[in-house]
Amino acid sequence: MSNKTIPNQGISSDRIFAAMETIKQKDIRWGEGRAFSLVFKGDKEMDEVIRKASQMFFSENGLNPSAFPSLKQFENEVVSMMVDLLRGGSAGCGSMTSGGTESILMAVKAAREWGKKNKPGHPRYKIIVPLSVHPAFDKAAHYFEMDLVKVGLGPDYRVNLAELEAKIDDQTVLIVGSAPQYPQGVIDPIAKMGELAKKYKTLLHVDGCVGGVLLPFFKMNGANVPDFDFNVEGVTSISADLHKYGYAAKGASVVLFRNKVLRRHSYFSSTDWPGGMYASPSVLGTRAGGPIAAAWAIMNYLGIEGYTRVAGSIKNTVDEFKTRIEKQPGIKLAVEPDMSVMCMVGDGVDIYQVGDGMTKRGWHLDRQQNPAGLHLTVTYAHAEVIENFFSDLALSVAEANNFGAKLSGMKTGIAKGFIKAMPKSVVGKLVEREGKSFGKDLEGDGPKSTAAMYGMMEAIPGKGDLDGLVLDVLDGLFTLQKPLDLEGKQQ
Ligand SMILES: *Cc1c(COP(=O)(O)O)cnc(C)c1O
Repeated sequence: MSNKTIPNQGISSDRIFAAMETIKQKDIRWGEGRAFSLVFKGDKEMDEVIRKASQMFFSENGLNPSAFPSLKQFENEVVSMMVDLLRGGSAGCGSMTSGGTESILMAVKAAREWGKKNKPGHPRYKIIVPLSVHPAFDKAAHYFEMDLVKVGLGPDYRVNLAELEAKIDDQTVLIVGSAPQYPQGVIDPIAKMGELAKKYKTLLHVDGCVGGVLLPFFKMNGANVPDFDFNVEGVTSISADLHKYGYAAKGASVVLFRNKVLRRHSYFSSTDWPGGMYASPSVLGTRAGGPIAAAWAIMNYLGIEGYTRVAGSIKNTVDEFKTRIEKQPGIKLAVEPDMSVMCMVGDGVDIYQVGDGMTKRGWHLDRQQNPAGLHLTVTYAHAEVIENFFSDLALSVAEANNFGAKLSGMKTGIAKGFIKAMPKSVVGKLVEREGKSFGKDLEGDGPKSTAAMYGMMEAIPGKGDLDGLVLDVLDGLFTLQKPLDLEGKQQ
C-alpha cells in the first residue's frame, strides 16, 4: 500500500490530462452502449446542450438563490415543468436536488415531520416499503432514525397489498411504491396503494426516480402505463431523476409534493448562527449551478416532442430486447417489464456464469439477487448494439451450459461448506481476498468470478455478517492501492 501526497511542485496540465486519459480507458464503455446502468446517454446534440449549459454555470452556487436569480429561475421552471408532467396541478410544488437519493431523503424527512404534527406521541415513525424498493429508503430510515418495514412481493414482483395493509399501524407515516422498481422493472399498484394511504391516513411516496420522466412519454408512444402520478389521489410526493431519462447532466433530480404544507416539512432553517440566517430546502449546502442549468436547458431543448421521439426509439429497442431474450434458450425475463428496466434470469443455466461470459466480452451488466439475475436498463444508446449484444449473449449462454455451470456449482458448494465451518474472523479474511476480486470487477480490470462471489454471499448465515462483508468490500474499494504515475514514465 502506498500513499498519494500533494506533489511538491505542480505538474504540467499536459501530463495531468494525459494520465487522466490513460486511466479513463479502464472505465466501462458506456459511450458504445456497453453498460446497462449508470449512464443515460442521449445523442450528440443533446450532449452538447448539457455540456454547454453546465459550462456556463460551472462556478455559480445554488445555495443562495437571491445571489443567483438565474439559477433560481431555472430551478423553479424545472420544478414547474415536472409538476405539470406528473399532473400536480396548481398546488403541486417541489425542490431540485442532486439525485434520487437526496430526493428520497427529503420525502422521508418530510414524512417524519408530518408525523410529529399529525400523529404525535411516537418516539419513532414507520415507513412501509416493498422489498424491491431502492436502498435509498433504507438509508433515509437509517439517517433519520425511523423504522423501515418491508413487505413481500407477489409472483409478479409487485408489492403484496394484503401484507402491506396488515402492516400499517398508527406509527406509520409513509408507504412507498415504485414506478417502476429497479430490480425487475414493474410498477407497484399505485392506485390501490393510494386507497390504502387515504384509508389509514398516511402519506404515499411514489419513487419515480427512473420512471418519472420516461413513463409519460412511453404512454404517448402507446404503451399501457397505469396512473402512478398525482392523478392518483393518495399520492403525496414523487421523486423523479432528471439525470436518468431526463437526459440532464448528473446531479439533477426533483422531489415533488402535492402542496406547500407538505413541502415545508422537508425544509431546514437555523436562525441563530453568527454567520447569518440560514435556510435550505434539501441536504446539500453549496449546490453546483451546472446541473441545474443543464436540466433546464435540456428540457427546453427536447420539449414534449423530443422526449416523445426519444422514448419511442427506446421503446422499440426495449421491444427488441424483450423478444430476443424470450427467444434465447437457457434464459428468460423474470417478469414482463412495464418500462425499459428488466431482469434476465436463468432458465436451466447459471445466470451469473452468463454474466461472467458477458463481462469477458466487454459488457457491463449488474448482478442481482433473490432471484439471481442480470440487470438491464435499456437506453437510447442500445439501439445500435442489439446484434452484438445478442450474439455475445448466445455465446455466453452456450459457455455457461457447457462447463461453467458445473464449475460454479462446485465453487459455490466449496465456499458454502468452508464458511459454515469457519470462525468469523477467518470469514472476514476470506472475504477480504474475495472482496478484492469483486472490487476489480467494478474497476473493469477483467473478468473475475462474480458467480463464486455471489455464491459465497448467499452462503453467509445471518444478515449482520453479510453487511460486514459488503462493508469490507467498500473499505477495500476506498483504500488507495497505488497513486497514478504522473512523472511521465508512461510517455
Ligand atoms: C436510481 C434510482 C434511485 C436513486 O437515485 P440516485 O440518483 O442514484 O441517487 C432511486 N430509486 C430508483 C427506482 C432508481 O432507479
